[in-house]
Amino acid sequence: MIDPEVERPLPWITDEFSREYFTAWTEQRLVVQHCPRCGGWQHFPRPICIECGTVPVFEEVPAIGTVYTFTIIRQMGMKPFRDEVPYAVVMVELDNGVKIMGNLTDCPIEDVRIGMAVEGYGVTHGDIGIPYWRPRSADTRHARTEEGGIA
Ligand SMILES: [Zn+2]
Repeated sequence: MIDPEVERPLPWITDEFSREYFTAWTEQRLVVQHCPRCGGWQHFPRPICIECGTVPVFEEVPAIGTVYTFTIIRQMGMKPFRDEVPYAVVMVELDNGVKIMGNLTDCPIEDVRIGMAVEGYGVTHGDIGIPYWRPRSADTRHARTEEGGIA
């Protein structure tokens, strides 16, 4: 697990779109932009749809996906990350095709695989939440089906 008390460099939020995305993670929600005209999904948040130029809307989607690709960080000189090596950074593909990068936790690095099922969770720092990913357990999948939301 990530210790929210450890000081970390945080995203520099310069626009309302990014703020909505990161704020949602403080509530354990994943919101992704969806275009009402062409139906496209996109991430990271932008003022217009990258396919057709329409103003997209945020929609909450399940914070679950699969590892599309990953890397293992074995060398890092900067605090606090240097105390956490080795660690995995994953690119997660959601069901809608959107890809989101983040750190993988709660998983030995030798067990990380492309295609593994993961779930996202937010760790709050001030007024924003940073997304992390962890392996999805059978229990969690069942809970999501029952509740239809993010545990
Ligand atoms: Zn569009």
